[in-house]
Amino acid sequence: MARMASPALVAVIGSGPAGIYAAEALVKQTDGNVRVDVFDRLPTPYGLVRYGVAPDHKSIKAIAKYLQKVLENPAVRFFGCVELGRDVSRADLLDCYDAVIYSTGAMVDRQMRIPGEELPGSIAATDFVNWYCGHPDAADHTFDLSVEEVAVIGVGNVAVDVVRILAKTAEELRETDVPEQVIEALSASRVKRVHMIGRRGPAQAKFTTKEARELGELPSASISVSPEDMALDPASAELAESDRKVGGNIKALNAWTGEPAAGRPRHIDVRFWRAPAEIIGTGRVEGLKLEKTRLDETGRVTGTGEFETLPVGLVMRSVGYQSVPLEGVPFDERSYTVPNEGGRITGPDGDPVPREYVAGWIKRGPSGVVGTNKSDAAETVRNLLEDLEGSETDPKRTIEELLESRGLPVVTYEDWLKLDAAEIALAESLDRGERVKLARWEAMTSACRGRE
Ligand code: NAP
Repeated sequence: MARMASPALVAVIGSGPAGIYAAEALVKQTDGNVRVDVFDRLPTPYGLVRYGVAPDHKSIKAIAKYLQKVLENPAVRFFGCVELGRDVSRADLLDCYDAVIYSTGAMVDRQMRIPGEELPGSIAATDFVNWYCGHPDAADHTFDLSVEEVAVIGVGNVAVDVVRILAKTAEELRETDVPEQVIEALSASRVKRVHMIGRRGPAQAKFTTKEARELGELPSASISVSPEDMALDPASAELAESDRKVGGNIKALNAWTGEPAAGRPRHIDVRFWRAPAEIIGTGRVEGLKLEKTRLDETGRVTGTGEFETLPVGLVMRSVGYQSVPLEGVPFDERSYTVPNEGGRITGPDGDPVPREYVAGWIKRGPSGVVGTNKSDAAETVRNLLEDLEGSETDPKRTIEELLESRGLPVVTYEDWLKLDAAEIALAESLDRGERVKLARWEAMTSACRGRE
């Protein structure tokens, strides 16, 4: 595509897959006639590839190597430890750049809004994920793994990840990058039974078949689902025939309806047709009350008025993520996304807001796999470049000047490489896999400065 004479200056906010794929698309679609600055509030790039993809999913984690190449392109720079809203404002970015792409993802968990949800022992699965992935905001979180039974609510891929990590032994995770304190805490886990609970039926489960199958292949855990839960109504049976994923899921689940394997230290109990009604306990979680459900004529889930209580000591809700509003940027409170057309942010009148764009989960909601963000970001970038076509770059000030005037301790890509090397060295010294994450802010920023 033809571009203006001087390189466009574009800021990308968030260095997860969506942000880095956007940087890549900017470079590719301009033949390198661009300068992209990728910002992150953390000292580390790669967003959910580092802090969401499960530690034992090494092949998905390897996407970081691809994303790394983008950050190493001469047209791209990384600015870590710079937070939008705290260190720089939207107005600052618009002063320094021709255009801004927000790709801040979906940073918070959704809630179930049931009684008892605030009890100690009722947690967001995302907190547990952040903790075992070594996210600095969760480094010192503790989870009571002295309980024998845990409920994970939701049947999406995050729930499957969390169930698998709870069901694996610490020994099985030693070769992964989880922080040392996570290995220690998991070694002391007394969890024996993990319930994974879907409020609808097996044909409506959100997880993908490959991920589900892994649960049935764990050496340390048996798995079961009751044949009654697997009964399909005509519409679900038709879906199982016509939809490859649903058909694959049903087949994988049906393999678990028999007698579970004996002699395993842990058991995974998959339950469908049960909606969380109340978390029970005095001072802490002591049980989870579930209402049995069915689908009504319109296909919506409805309660049957029949209840049961599971004697769990920990409840992890894995019911989805949601984006948070960015100051001054339009936000749709119903969909928890930024209103946009093909990545062009639209204002209350429906017209595009000049020079501001979105990519990734904040654009389309928390769905899809990592690779989904590539085409999503490419679409945003096509529209951005079309809008900038023929315009002259005209920033009011430089970002270097602005960051320096605020005395911000920015982490550069080279600084991050020092932290990267420190994590690789730590794994070697502990005789553990390729990397062991440093999770505490202080340890991370010290490593970035080349200090132990
Ligand atoms: P998700 O796929 O949307 O699943 C959310 C689950 O929570 C659904 O089963 C949903 O049931 C249930 N739920 C929502 N509200 C509920 C409530 N109030 N009570 C009970 N259940 C409730 O979300 P996710 O698991 O967080 O995953 C987010 C995205 O990341 C997905 O695209 C996922 O595939 C992706 N991801 C991929 C991988 C991988 O590829 N390995 C790993 C992790 C995540 P309903 O369907 O009934 O609403």
